[in-house]
Amino acid sequence: MAVTTTAQVAPFPKSGHDHARCRDWMIKRAESLCLDQGLRFTPQRREVLEILSTAHQCLGAYDILERMGHRDRRPPPAAVYRSLDFLMELNLVHRMTSRNAFFACTRAEHAAPIQFWICRHCGVVGESESTLITDEVARLAGELAFRPETINVEIEGACQTCRTP
Ligand SMILES: [Zn+2]
Ligand SMILES: [Zn+2]
Repeated sequence: MAVTTTAQVAPFPKSGHDHARCRDWMIKRAESLCLDQGLRFTPQRREVLEILSTAHQCLGAYDILERMGHRDRRPPPAAVYRSLDFLMELNLVHRMTSRNAFFACTRAEHAAPIQFWICRHCGVVGESESTLITDEVARLAGELAFRPETINVEIEGACQTCRTP
């Protein structure tokens, strides 16, 4: 079993920060990832990532769809799901299972299992990385003779901006 314990709390995006810079960083990262791997960063994939990276919140597929293009040229829901699958494959977007919603990843890379922290007040999502939780799940699974297939760690609460002092 892995004994490395990388625990690192990702900073939450601060309220009032420059969204455009965040979005540009995420789009640039997506462009270079696609270039490296010979994948196509289609206008639709870009638009989905732009919407999520500007929102800094998790959005359902239909919320994303509503923000896309012009009313008469909106893509079908299946196309949005395909774009989301593509972006999730590259870890550019993650799915919040408890809400069936998606958000743009703000980390440069993932070295360990991720935990998602969602603020109930503003809807902002943060990420942390730690092997401790999955190691413990593996240990407990051994005791139960259970084979875990997916482990989602999603914590709801209040972010620093929304917390009352
Ligand atoms: Zn991430
Ligand atoms: Zn908040």
